[in-house]
Amino acid sequence: MKKYHLLWVLICLSGSLFAQRATTQYDVIKTAQEWKKSLNELEYYVLREQGTERPFSSPLLKIKTSGTYVCKGCKTPLFKSEHKFDSGTGWPSFDREIKGNVGYGTDYKAGYARSEEYCLNCGGHLGHVFTDGPKNTTGLRHCINGAALEFIPDSSK
Ligand SMILES: [Zn+2]
Repeated sequence: MKKYHLLWVLICLSGSLFAQRATTQYDVIKTAQEWKKSLNELEYYVLREQGTERPFSSPLLKIKTSGTYVCKGCKTPLFKSEHKFDSGTGWPSFDREIKGNVGYGTDYKAGYARSEEYCLNCGGHLGHVFTDGPKNTTGLRHCINGAALEFIPDSSK
């Protein structure tokens, strides 16, 4: 009996080890050419090629006004300003996402497993989530590329 238990543990472990994004049918589907028309070079690199912008390079870091951060690719609301915090890492950071609009997968680009975040509406890569966020709220740090986001201030509504 014990042997079978061990087998199950191994199967589960290997499953999570190779986990990638769940196969999702995105509402917004464009060809690379179409994306290149609507995004600048950096935005395309981050959103469509899972790239990472240089730290401290995003103008969104300084924004303190209230509003919503939407996907640069498809305008889906992803993060709220009240959940943004200064992590000191050089990337816009949030302690939680807008539920239902962000998907999670695993990537190994850095040589180890990281929890990738992407827009559920268009599949655009946003960044990664880490567990060293503010302890007094969620404990999570959503480390997001500013190039993947657009800020819509509440005053513009
Ligand atoms: Zn999107």
